[in-house]
Amino acid sequence: MAQISLRDVSKVYKGGVKAVDKVNLGIENKEFMVLVGPSGCGKSTTLRMIAGLEEISEGKIWIGDRLVNNVPAKDRDIAMVFQNYALYPHMTVFENMSFGLKLRRYPKHEIIRRVNEAAEILGIKKMINRRPRQLSGGERQRVALGRAIVRKPLAFLFDEPLSNLDAKLRVQMRTEIHKLRLRLQTTFIYVTHDQTEAMTLGDKIVVMKDGKVQQCADPMTIYDKPTNKFVASFIGSPPINLIEGRIIKRERKYYFDEGKFRVKLVEEMYGVIAPYEGKDVTMGLRAEDIYDKLFVSEASPENTIRAACEVVEPLGSEVYLYLNSGKHQFIARVGAHNRPEVNRDMDLVLDMSKVHFFDRETENTII
Ligand code: ADP
Repeated sequence: MAQISLRDVSKVYKGGVKAVDKVNLGIENKEFMVLVGPSGCGKSTTLRMIAGLEEISEGKIWIGDRLVNNVPAKDRDIAMVFQNYALYPHMTVFENMSFGLKLRRYPKHEIIRRVNEAAEILGIKKMINRRPRQLSGGERQRVALGRAIVRKPLAFLFDEPLSNLDAKLRVQMRTEIHKLRLRLQTTFIYVTHDQTEAMTLGDKIVVMKDGKVQQCADPMTIYDKPTNKFVASFIGSPPINLIEGRIIKRERKYYFDEGKFRVKLVEEMYGVIAPYEGKDVTMGLRAEDIYDKLFVSEASPENTIRAACEVVEPLGSEVYLYLNSGKHQFIARVGAHNRPEVNRDMDLVLDMSKVHFFDRETENTII
């Protein structure tokens, strides 16, 4: 168990690529922290610097109360699980799992006890004598997890551990990692580009872009209160609708004018939006905050818009409507029985208490 902290950590690769740019992070003891962001944003590099697999160009990293900048990977007492499992093909499951303990000269009975315990937790006891090629992808990933568990490290570092698995298995392994985490009660840092994995697994999520931390918070804060347009659009499925327009004021009321439609802001937002009067902004509205007017009892003309419904996509438990205002395309997520006619205009009610506004230049959140 350990807390981990990074202060002003940067990484410049040979050739000048600044992969990580002054990252500050604090991971509490027993916390599950997820680093998420698009490919190339510096997630793996950050993780590899914590693991000691990559030199730190600038800044400091502590594991527990030990400054580890100059501590080699093998002495950091953390275990890393990789995307490609990195199992030894000529060794059995038992040998793969016990290899690290053997190197560290653990007594034989202790090795057997730990491997059996991990195999039990992971449900791979029956295949303990098989070799990796005799295992499915999911089973191999379990062995890789097992090899990490037996060491009882201070922290686990996971680098996209599920990205080689098919979609169904990925969901299954995600729940298993969740259970494992509850059972092991230790610190986890988990890298993924998959926002669903981030939302479902993390106590805290760190959203990265271009080597920089964009936001670090619990999943619902990231979802409900993104700090900028990038975070808002990266987290959430379907992605948040981003609609460009202008803030205008008429008779002491503020409106968002899209060009084809105009909606009134809720009064609580007036104070913050006032400096943006007459300015271009981007409105962000999640698909679940748009309703078919037929299903809304109290709609006002000031938050109702007209748009053409171009595609209706039933997903069983819900329906996605692909809409077009004449200027912007956007998506609404509505109830399973809501089936508007395609290629017809329909009335939609926007929940204006849920909208976000982003500064057009800085892309930072205004509301
Ligand atoms: P992510 O894990 O978010 O996909 P990485 O940390 O792997 O991102 O990479 C961040 C940036 O650093 C990318 O631009 C990548 O091309 C670059 N990079 C990664 N590894 C190396 C390396 N060994 N040498 C040079 N550039 C690298």
